[in-house]
Order: sequence, then structure tokens, then C-alpha cells
Amino acid sequence: MKSRAWAEINLNHLRHNAKVLKKLLPPKCEVMAVVKANAYGHGDAVVAKELNLIGISAFAVAAIREGVHLRRQGITGEILILGYTSPEEFADLVRYDLTQTVVDCEYGKLLDQYGRKIKVHVKIDTGMHRLGEDYQNVRGIAGMFACKNLSVEGIFTHLGMADDSSPAGMNFSRFQIDNFYGVLAQLRDWGYDLPNVHIQSSYGVLNFPELQCDYARIGIALYGVLSTAEDQTKLSVDLRPVLSLKARVALTKEIGAGETVGYGCRFTAPYDMTIAVVSIGYADGFPRCLSCGGGYVLVKGKKAPVIGRICMDQLMIDCSGIPDVRQNDIVTLIGEDGTERITAEQVAKQAGTITNELCSRLGNRLERVYVSD
Ligand SMILES: *Cc1c(COP(=O)(O)O)cnc(C)c1O
Repeated sequence: MKSRAWAEINLNHLRHNAKVLKKLLPPKCEVMAVVKANAYGHGDAVVAKELNLIGISAFAVAAIREGVHLRRQGITGEILILGYTSPEEFADLVRYDLTQTVVDCEYGKLLDQYGRKIKVHVKIDTGMHRLGEDYQNVRGIAGMFACKNLSVEGIFTHLGMADDSSPAGMNFSRFQIDNFYGVLAQLRDWGYDLPNVHIQSSYGVLNFPELQCDYARIGIALYGVLSTAEDQTKLSVDLRPVLSLKARVALTKEIGAGETVGYGCRFTAPYDMTIAVVSIGYADGFPRCLSCGGGYVLVKGKKAPVIGRICMDQLMIDCSGIPDVRQNDIVTLIGEDGTERITAEQVAKQAGTITNELCSRLGNRLERVYVSD
């Protein structure tokens, strides 16, 4: 509909990114598409279905309700829940055929005691100290394979500094990788058949492409952006941004020198000017910290700064230098307009964050408009 504010999702670019990323992986390694947080704001069911069509059949989400939602939308294949699921919801793991992460051995026993067969991937904490059983407790980890109600289909870890290619960052990643392979070697020695192994997220693939795994859990790179534009990665790939963010001009008005704009009168016109009210605000995920000149948008192919404070549902821009801005014109907050372009990396940087946060906080109220040939 494109009536007020929308995210335009380019499915051609999504497919392109998935294909170039798959090419970086060793032949037997598959993409596990990370579609948590509504596929980083891109619309999880549509993204998962599209990826399914090009042969991706493993997905990861953070929360069980995200997995249930995907199943109800008809997504088949493996859906791994990366986060914690409360025992109160174990029934849904079975009912919706979801795969649960074993966040530590104690939790693994709880899952086993539920009494129904549950698919799991065992997570190993190799030094990040977030989820996972300590890599030094190999006995405990081996114990998970002996639990009769656990169907252990994967074992994985997560790197805390994969995006950091400084010597210190690389050393820490190496330390984590070695710890993980140490666990695998010990399990193999004890005669266990190893299930599917995975380590890398987007930056893991870009900085450690040589790792031999069964899956790579790729999130942000699938959406065609990096967390920050400055990141140096070992491999550079031709990623194409999937998302554009757009809204409408609600109206334009002339204001006189000395008049103010918006809440708190934070903007005072230095001269007579033309401003436009744009139908998008922080509730749609456009960060409020970009108020008062902190950010800009594109209209009629030209840059227009945000003036005054960004409101929940609207923001105001200065379009004095831009002729013929009219009600209902399209404003681009992320994406291209004519020869100008605003990237998600630029907006995230202006807002003091990373693209992952910017995209995943795009609101439910935004329409998603899918483009594909
Ligand atoms: C979110 C997440 C990913 C995906 O990370 P990206 O950097 O977006 O590729 C992978 N693994 C785990 C455990 C995650 O939480």
C-alpha cells in the first residue's frame, strides 16, 4: 500500500546475498538463516519462504514464539531456537517440531526429564560467557548424548570477537575455536558420533571462512549490510542491501524566521523556510537520537536535515532548498533516491549503534513491501 511509512524489501537482493554467502562456505556447509527479531526487521515468514525456495532449509530464531510463528506460517525445515525456553513452553517444542539449544547441562537434564523426545543442539561456552556449557566440562557435555529423550542433532559455539580483525581480536577468536575443537576431539576419542557442527555467524564466515562446519548461522550479512561500514574483514563480498525505509510527506508549510518547530521548541528557523512533516517516527524504529540535525533524509533526490525533535509518529525536515516538495511525496530514510543514497550503516553510525539494532527495531506498524522479479 505504501500509505504512510514502509520498509521496501528487495527479495532479489536477499537471494543474491544468500547465494554469494553460500559460495564462501566449504561445499558441505549449509547456510542456517538467522531470522530472529522478524528477520532483523525484514519480515520473518516472507524471508524464510523466499530462502526456502532457493534451497535453504535451516533457520534460527531467538525465541520459541518466533519459531511457533514461522511454523504457523508454513515454514518447514529445521528451526533452531538459539535462546532459552522456559519449561512451561516445552510442549510447544514437541508440538511445533522445534529444535532447542541446550544452554547448559543442567538445562539439558530438564529437557530430558520432560519425557518426550526433543531435538536439541548443545551449546558450548568457549569463552564468551553467554549461553553454553563450559568447554572444560567435557564429561557433562558427553552426558547430553546419553540422555534418552534428547535427540542431539547439533553442537555449536558462538564467537564474541569475530568482527575484530586486530591481533587481539583474532587471538581471542582462535582461543575460542581451539577450545571448541578440543571438545569435539575429546568426544570423538570417547567414541561419540558428532552431530552437525557450527561456529560462525556473519563475521565468522567473513573472517574465518576456512572453518569446516556443517552450518554457518548467518544473520546480518544475508540482509546485505555489515554491522558497521568500518569493519575490515578478511573476505569482502558483494552484498546488496535488502531493505529501504520510506515514508510520505504529510504536508509542507512555510515558517518565518524566529519560529520554532516541534516538541520543546528545539529548532528555531534562522530565516523564512519551507519545512515538511514526514509520516514516520521513533515508534516505527527511526531513532529519536537523530533529532535536531542528527540525521537527514532524501526527498526529490536531495538531502534534507531532520529539524527539531523526532516524534513518536512523525518528524520534520527542512526542505527550503528543494523545489516542489509536495504532500504525499516519498521520503527515503534508508536507500536510494536519484543519485543520492543513505545506507543503513550510515544511519546506524549517526545513531551511535550498529545496523543489527537499527534494523531489528523497525516497528510492526511499518508496512513491508516486497519487491521481486
Ligand atoms: C544473532 C546470532 C547469530 C547471527 O549473527 P549475525 O552477526 O547477524 O550473523 C548467530 N548466532 C547466534 C548465537 C546469534 O545469537
